[in-house]
Amino acid sequence: MKHEHLEHKFYETQIFLQEQIAPLANNIDRDPEVLRTALRGMGDRSLLALKVPSELGGTSLKEVDYHRWQIMLARVSGALTFLQTQHQSAVAMLAKSDNKSLQQKFLPYVATGDALLGVGFSHLRRRGVPIMKATETTEGYLLTGIVPWITGYDFFAHFILGATLPDGRELYGMLPLQNKLQESGGKIALSKPMELMAMAATNTVSAKINQWFLPRDRLIAIKPAGAIHVSSRKNVLNHGFFALGCAYAGLDILFAAGETKQLNFLQESWQFLTARVKKCEEQAIASKLDNNLPYEQQLKLRAKAINLAARCSIAAVIASGGVANDLNSNAGRVYREALLFSVSGQTTDVMEASLKRLLS
Ligand SMILES: Cc1cc2nc3c(=O)[nH]c(=O)nc-3n(C[C@H](O)[C@H](O)[C@H](O)COP(=O)(O)OP(=O)(O)OC[C@H]3O[C@@H](n4cnc5c(N)ncnc54)[C@H](O)[C@@H]3O)c2cc1C
Repeated sequence: MKHEHLEHKFYETQIFLQEQIAPLANNIDRDPEVLRTALRGMGDRSLLALKVPSELGGTSLKEVDYHRWQIMLARVSGALTFLQTQHQSAVAMLAKSDNKSLQQKFLPYVATGDALLGVGFSHLRRRGVPIMKATETTEGYLLTGIVPWITGYDFFAHFILGATLPDGRELYGMLPLQNKLQESGGKIALSKPMELMAMAATNTVSAKINQWFLPRDRLIAIKPAGAIHVSSRKNVLNHGFFALGCAYAGLDILFAAGETKQLNFLQESWQFLTARVKKCEEQAIASKLDNNLPYEQQLKLRAKAINLAARCSIAAVIASGGVANDLNSNAGRVYREALLFSVSGQTTDVMEASLKRLLS
């Protein structure tokens, strides 16, 4: 995308977010119907296939621009950010698949949200006996096990499931995100949407899958054993951009409190934390542009971003006073969002680095 088109798209999106999403952010967090309208707003603007190449119907956003985008969205609504991210990840994965017929069936409709997809593969990061297994048959694969997390029930018609083959390779295939029985006896049983503290409206469920037959034409990819760990290392910083957006959301509340209450220490706190968030953002973006920053340093930046989300959101709570405890408080919501962005896409390394950061 040309630079001026990109800047225009960002500008238009900013206006959409400020005028139509920000005022409803607390409702979007809790009410699936309000979240659905917000997601449709993004679809109406063809914003739901940002990482998909334009020849496949997407926006072809460069990686670093996608990260700027993540910050911008997470600054306004965590629930909308989180829900649409699952879809953006799923469609980016489909765009890289060798399965051209599946691409043709879905990709022309994904940018507008006429086809919406979720993901359920974070369990592949767990060590030990796989909880979701695949075995090959003559015409496809049989899938059995548990999927602990799938966001987007009743938003997404399908999701990309990750399962482990007997030799440890990772299988990714497309399944309906519905309770379903196959004539062969295959079954998908979803839990009720979880009662979550943050982003409850995203309808996050778990699934029990038993002998589900996945025909070859629904296969997205087979990757080597441990591919998810390689990808988690390579992309260790990616979830950090949500944490940075969340940190800015906290800072916005702190700034507004400073304006209203005219207390110097509020403005000073805002200045102090803003400088740190900006620096972390600059380092994170520079690291993405450079591509050569060692893993350990990227990991530190991710932990720093998580730490800043926590500090800025608690600053927002403290500056707001008792009212932060109101369910309709922006400060309370951003504080809960910081909780989610502290653990989403978590690996053992990220867990350790985030904890160490708290100790320093
Ligand atoms: C609201 C919500 C929605 C989500 N939606 C989705 C979704 O749509 N799709 C999706 O794929 N994921 C989703 N997730 C999962 C999310 O990305 C995970 O929270 C994150 O990856 C951490 O996984 P976990 O909570 O299952 O923790 P765990 O799997 O328990 O572990 C977290 C980390 O610790 C490590 N670990 C765990 N136990 C051990 C052990 N005994 N020894 C050593 N290391 C260990 C794991 O390897 C992992 O790296 C969602 C999570 C939340 C909270």
